[in-house]
Amino acid sequence: MPNLEKCDFLIVGGGIAGLSAALEASKYGKVIILTKDKISETATKKAQGGIAAAIDQIKDSTEFHFEDTINAGAGLCEEESVRILVTEGVERVKELIQMGARFDRAETEAGGGFALALEGAHKRRRILHAGDATGEEIQRTLGAKIVADKLVNIHQHTLGIDLIIENGKCIGVKALDLKNKCIKYFLAKATIITTGGLGQAYHYTTNPEVATGDGIAMAYRAGAVVTDMEFVQFHPTSLVQFEELKDIIALPRFLISEAVRGEGAVLLNNKDERFMEKYDTQKELAPRDIVSRAIYQEMQETRSDHVHLSLAKLDHEKIKKRFPVIYKTCLERGLDITRDNIPVAPAAHYFMGGIKTDIEGRTKTPGLYAAGECASLGIHGANRLASNSLLDGLVFGHRSAAAAKHETQDTRYKIQDTKHKATSKKGSIANSKLKEAELKRFKLIIKSSMWDNVGIVRSKESLTKALKLIGEVEKRLNYSPITKEEIELKNLTLVSKLTTKAALDRTESRGAHYRRDFPKTDDKNWKKHLEYHLN
Ligand SMILES: Cc1cc2nc3c(=O)[nH]c(=O)nc-3n(C[C@H](O)[C@H](O)[C@H](O)COP(=O)(O)OP(=O)(O)OC[C@H]3O[C@@H](n4cnc5c(N)ncnc54)[C@H](O)[C@@H]3O)c2cc1C
Repeated sequence: MPNLEKCDFLIVGGGIAGLSAALEASKYGKVIILTKDKISETATKKAQGGIAAAIDQIKDSTEFHFEDTINAGAGLCEEESVRILVTEGVERVKELIQMGARFDRAETEAGGGFALALEGAHKRRRILHAGDATGEEIQRTLGAKIVADKLVNIHQHTLGIDLIIENGKCIGVKALDLKNKCIKYFLAKATIITTGGLGQAYHYTTNPEVATGDGIAMAYRAGAVVTDMEFVQFHPTSLVQFEELKDIIALPRFLISEAVRGEGAVLLNNKDERFMEKYDTQKELAPRDIVSRAIYQEMQETRSDHVHLSLAKLDHEKIKKRFPVIYKTCLERGLDITRDNIPVAPAAHYFMGGIKTDIEGRTKTPGLYAAGECASLGIHGANRLASNSLLDGLVFGHRSAAAAKHETQDTRYKIQDTKHKATSKKGSIANSKLKEAELKRFKLIIKSSMWDNVGIVRSKESLTKALKLIGEVEKRLNYSPITKEEIELKNLTLVSKLTTKAALDRTESRGAHYRRDFPKTDDKNWKKHLEYHLN
């Protein structure tokens, strides 16, 4: 049958979770990876700070890493998931090093250990890094291994549209081949979703343009459970560019890694005052939700859209050596960070919620697995500990593939092409049903209502307003989407609705979810995960 491919394991997404799953899965059968853009276009590649693992067994331990993760998670971490993360994480990171990942070494130890960095809410130095381009180094290492693996077939520029469900089981994905502009069907014994987060639902985000919540939306539509949807982490320090305008869709903001604060950089408000000590004893290294809210408060009080990050007390040569990408990027934008303060503000950064899985990546839908940022199994609770998400993708990508090897039922004869036909003549893609200007306007409505109303500080009033606006866009999208832009908009609208609904339902504040009208944490009623599914 034309436009139909079969494999044992279908992996949707080529970031750390997808690549880690592919490497493990290829030991057991044929693997296909779909990526919506180039394989290098991922949040993974943008990761700067590093990957956390207790590889220093003298000053650190997996028990300390466990405690820090649980403390940051504000009462919602699942202990079993965290235990697996911190213990298997050490093994997986060691494998990564054996595969050739070049993490920075400590200068003082001849031939010796790694230069471990400190980040917010970690009580020990445990962040392995490759300068400030750690994600790129990991993506390179895993990518090289995958390319060499003859059992893995990569389809770039191929957008997963929907899961194919037969008799209650997921048997693959219907996808849009963006280069050849045609629909394709990928059938598999097991499908693993690793499509990353949903930062693009927000006006200001550090996330790449591919992060439109597609996998979460696909799984929800197919009947899977989604959970912890209200927990969106806002990174405190994204670079504010002065040309940003509120009425156009903002480009992803460049991140100023937490590791910069870990090395001693301080935050100043627009009166040039250091302010973090007013908010938390850990000052600039308090958990991200606390630092983001403190910056938000200072910005409100000084009526500004940013505060400053000062590296004045850091050694100039060390800045250039330790943060070469940040140094160079800021310089290109007119800032010499060895001299100038950096204008920064919070931006949507990481999604703690997602497709509910067990500790082996299994969802409620047979044949369907999920791992990485699109999945949720209580590792990060209500607030992710810095540098734990690369580790999450590495560990649980591997685990989901190891579990999926038990899916042996062949799907060969089950699909009827006509049943899944989306569009037009000879399999080619018809034009968008929406005009380009309309598409942009709807996207802008979603992104700004999420930023303005479902952001760092929320209330019943703001969330109700957002639900209304999102609902109005949803009504206009009441047809099968055809083009990439329509598919993404539909997915963004759905995940935004679910996030807003969950934020409205949770009438307390916890971790990254802060309700102005319910500022206290209420363990008696809310120390639990909220779950949503169709029917
Ligand atoms: C700027 C930045 C800095 C960060 N720094 C750190 C850090 O220092 N340490 C840390 O631990 N974490 C960091 N994070 C978070 C971390 O990078 C991500 O959580 C992690 O990389 C997610 O990996 P993933 O494999 O789940 O998804 P991604 O790496 O985002 O990969 C998603 C993949 O899914 C594909 N995809 C999406 N939708 C579809 C579709 N419909 N069809 C086909 N393919 C699709 C994409 O093309 C992509 O290949 C950072 C994030 C950002 C944005």
